[in-house]
Amino acid sequence: MDLKQQILEIKENFARAIENIKDSDDLEQVKIEYLGRKSRFNQILKGLKDLGVEEKKEIGRLANLAKQDFQARLDELKSSITASGRTDSKFDYTLPGKRSRLGRTHPIVTTMREISDIFFGMGFGTEIGPEIETDYYNFQALNMPRDHPARDMQDTFYISGDLVLRTHTTPVQVRTLERSKPPARFIAPGRCYRNEAISVRSHAAFHQIDGFFVDRDVSFADLKGVLVAFARSFFGSDVKLKFRPSFFPFTEPSAEVDISCFLCNGKGCALCKRSGWLEILGCGMIDPVVFDYVGYDPEAFTGYAFGIGIERICLLKYGIDDIRLFFENDVRFLEQF
Ligand SMILES: [Zn+2]
Repeated sequence: MDLKQQILEIKENFARAIENIKDSDDLEQVKIEYLGRKSRFNQILKGLKDLGVEEKKEIGRLANLAKQDFQARLDELKSSITASGRTDSKFDYTLPGKRSRLGRTHPIVTTMREISDIFFGMGFGTEIGPEIETDYYNFQALNMPRDHPARDMQDTFYISGDLVLRTHTTPVQVRTLERSKPPARFIAPGRCYRNEAISVRSHAAFHQIDGFFVDRDVSFADLKGVLVAFARSFFGSDVKLKFRPSFFPFTEPSAEVDISCFLCNGKGCALCKRSGWLEILGCGMIDPVVFDYVGYDPEAFTGYAFGIGIERICLLKYGIDDIRLFFENDVRFLEQF
């Protein structure tokens, strides 16, 4: 075979060989085979000395062009392998790594867990219910018939005539009591929705933990005892509580609970608006009407209910001044917890 023919053949083989290069090891093999000291090219070039002047020139030129071409193709492949990270054995373990950012728990979730843990410690279980709720569970069975003025207290997102986005987690009480027999002691954590303008102080979505205890002879004193224990555990052992009479359609009597401001110890500061007190939750004794709806005998059983707004507690605990931050998922905000 003459030398021109041989060079053509080497070029064809090379073209096939580079098709199969997968990583830098393959690339190195091909390089040695086609451009190394013992390559067929070098043998051809060594044989040039036996040729005539003209032929020497032509074959030499062809061989060198092919070598340059091979070198260029291999360099190109090498940079694409490096760029795609397929360097394998060429991986440099001493280079600094790329730091991957760790996720962390959202402050709302952290607060819900902390509060839940305290109630688990006092013997409460957990129940959950749907966020899309029927008018019956969200309102009627909680002593708010269709024409009840208390419905105005909760601006509601209606999905259809009978379906709403739940405005509180209190419907979980009805669903749970309905399918179980007393005694019952559980908390109901979850997300709720109200048709409110989004501002620094309020949001259309928020979180609540409701708690319930139903048994024979449950009294308001039991309710106070549990809430005092909770507040001391969560806010500190020297916190004071104040129960103010209030109104909820599903409890009677009802109260709102303030704690002494943990920032100023009741002296008055910006957080407590100079009052020395912070409102943290609503509560009361379950209205006998609710027992009628779930089939409990109101003569035999009594119970209490309370509802804690998680955002409010979280704002107070971390000194956050804008409720919207909880829902914007700005990493700069979330990284601080
Ligand atoms: Zn204060």
